[in-house]
Amino acid sequence: NPLNLSGFGGLKWYRPLKLQHLLELKSKYPDSKLLVGNTEVGIEMRLKRMQYQVLISVTHVPELNVLNVKDDGLEIGAAVRLTELLKMFRKVVTERPAHETSSCKAFIEQIKWFAGTQIKNVASVGGNICTASPISDLNPLWMASGAKFHIVDCKGNIRTTMAEEFFLGYRKVDLTSGEILLSIFLPWTRPFEFVKEFKQAHRRDDDIALVNAGMRVYLEEKDEEWVVSDALLVYGGVAPLSLSAKKTKTFIVGKSWSQELLQNALKILQTDIILKEDAPGGMVDFRKSLTLSFFFKFFLWVSHQME
Ligand code: FAD
Repeated sequence: NPLNLSGFGGLKWYRPLKLQHLLELKSKYPDSKLLVGNTEVGIEMRLKRMQYQVLISVTHVPELNVLNVKDDGLEIGAAVRLTELLKMFRKVVTERPAHETSSCKAFIEQIKWFAGTQIKNVASVGGNICTASPISDLNPLWMASGAKFHIVDCKGNIRTTMAEEFFLGYRKVDLTSGEILLSIFLPWTRPFEFVKEFKQAHRRDDDIALVNAGMRVYLEEKDEEWVVSDALLVYGGVAPLSLSAKKTKTFIVGKSWSQELLQNALKILQTDIILKEDAPGGMVDFRKSLTLSFFFKFFLWVSHQME
């Protein structure tokens, strides 16, 4: 049933069952807060004492819970829980041609090191994306893998944006107060297109990353050389938002995948991803070296895939 509860101090809590009802609530209460797993909002309200007057739990809205395998990729509702997503990734990896699921495999590996089971059972894909934490483990991968975000407004109009364009600043995303994230489209990878995840934390299990990353490269054979046709290197934990290394990308696209590319790209990366000496989080030298070593590892891994 749809639920509508009132709490202490005028707090309102809704649980709509239809997208239409959710959009009506969003239009009536533009400052309302959507909830799925409540693993972010719960902390904000209890520990950071943030006040939200209207909460809308969207766990029961079917359109936000879709998980569909399509010809060109995977459609993932914004309220899908990480455990469900992981199950789906594991399934498609066994069922689809290996070259199509390079991104899925990267997500599987990254989700392994994401929180504990209890959090993954309730935490949603959309909650992670919309929180836009600079240290989100998944946002660099959505960006790198060329995912698209479908956004719906109060009137039901849907627009689409690339994940790469969605993050605007510290916990700031390309959503107006009347808009919500509806779903994510993750395209299959092509032959010779490779996606890889990276995360370095103090502990392996259930820890916040110091630096993380998602990287993709698409190689095409030209004149008996493997040339970078497209690429994206996205880092977390180095800036107020998940950050694409744009200069490095521009440099490697069109170049042959070789030791020379590696050496030069490492030089450019140092000017592309800049951590100031007083950057929040500390350990600046270590984190700088991680940004380089992730790309080094990526280079070796891709080269190995090509053997
Ligand atoms: P909620 O708290 O329900 O919502 C979060 C925000 O997203 C809210 O502002 C909400 O309004 C908004 N929102 C939700 N759905 C939509 C939508 N459809 N459209 C628009 N806005 C929406 N994160 C990591 O990246 N890596 C980790 O390893 C990790 N470990 C964690 C460990 C613990 C113990 C905890 C408490 C958190 C951890 N997190 C981690 C962060 C957090 O769990 C994730 O960001 C999680 O995916 C949030 O999902 P949720 O459904 O609980 O979000």
